[in-house]
Amino acid sequence: MKILVLNAGSSSCKYKLYEMTDQSVLCSGLVERIGDPKTGCLTHKIAPDTDKEEKIVQESVFPNHNEAIRQVINLITDPKKGVIKDLKEIAVIGHRVLHGGYYQTEPALVDEATKKTIRDAFPLGPLHNPANLTGIEVAEQLFPGVPNVAVFDTAFGMKMPREAYTYALPQDLCKELQIRRYGFHGTSHTYLVNRGAAFMKKPLKDFNCITLHLGNGSSLGCVKNGQCIDTSMGITPLEGLIMGTRCGSIDPAIVPYIIKQKGWSADEVDTLMNKKSGLLGLCGKTDLRDIHKLADQEHDENALLARRMLIRSIKKTLGAFFFLLEGKVDALIFSAGIGENDALVRAGVVEGLESLGICLDAEKNATRSGDEREISSKDSKIKILVLPTNEELQIALTSQEVLAKSKA
Ligand code: ADP
Repeated sequence: MKILVLNAGSSSCKYKLYEMTDQSVLCSGLVERIGDPKTGCLTHKIAPDTDKEEKIVQESVFPNHNEAIRQVINLITDPKKGVIKDLKEIAVIGHRVLHGGYYQTEPALVDEATKKTIRDAFPLGPLHNPANLTGIEVAEQLFPGVPNVAVFDTAFGMKMPREAYTYALPQDLCKELQIRRYGFHGTSHTYLVNRGAAFMKKPLKDFNCITLHLGNGSSLGCVKNGQCIDTSMGITPLEGLIMGTRCGSIDPAIVPYIIKQKGWSADEVDTLMNKKSGLLGLCGKTDLRDIHKLADQEHDENALLARRMLIRSIKKTLGAFFFLLEGKVDALIFSAGIGENDALVRAGVVEGLESLGICLDAEKNATRSGDEREISSKDSKIKILVLPTNEELQIALTSQEVLAKSKA
């Protein structure tokens, strides 16, 4: 079975075509600068990350998503270099959709109701949902007869109990404005929980873990019996940890204070908190590799502070989730750019937790690898795992499930 995964952004579109029998990627690619009247770029890879990988780059103008995806189809079905002969070979198209809104708790086969759900959630996901819906509508036009599945990034967090997702604000206002904790990176957390249970050979229903998706955007997931019971991100991805450019949780009273003192608009403060804060606001850099350089080679005070604050913010949330699980944790799962690659941050986060049964093997932690691996010591009660995340594969797997259910 072949499954196409599409992630349409406002000016870009990523895609991956899977052969699900062995979960291999037949081709993948990215169209950038869609809508730019002067220049756009399509990068297409056949058999990516294998020794047969072949890269095709097309510089061209893509006035809209329809044109961009048409070009992708030409490449996928090209008589010489194509990986399929007919679009009907694609069993289903899985779409990443940021926000499912207040009511959507599950991934869904696309029909008019699903599209309305995505549209209704535009105010909650103003940057992503409109583009995600465009991707779906273009796919409906260009792949006639192929079903589409919407995989919502919020679905993981929709399983949280009420006391976890409710904000202590007047509840009639929350209901009116659909204010609740939704959580994001849900597809990644779902993948990590499934892989973690498989790695530890435990049935998902008995698996407790804390997932640490640490990238440019970062969130922690708290998982009991295979289900999310809490997450660090909120109604938007701003809440929780210190991130590359986001401040994470701060005293909300800072917002009206800045507005009153500086005469700024709500949008200006929003930009400040989402784009100019976090590691960037603390030390002028977003990439941890740059921050390590500044901290270790130049002893830059701000970089040292940013690094300490990042680790502390992760550790604090980890501690909260550890208590919510009453210490009954099978694994801590590190993932994404920082979680998969940064041994120093991983070591900092679990430092001193030996008495809680969390013991790192320093050598395993320091060994670089792209594989799924355990980095805890043999006697660690709680396993520490590093699992590379794979959101696209999770979207493909979820789409396959939704399709199977729809036919049952
Ligand atoms: P995004 O949230 O944009 O998907 P990623 O998951 O790719 O981000 O994570 C990006 C961050 O991961 C970078 O800011 C960088 O700090 C960190 N990172 C990536 N590769 C490495 C590496 N090899 N060593 C240390 N940190 C890394």
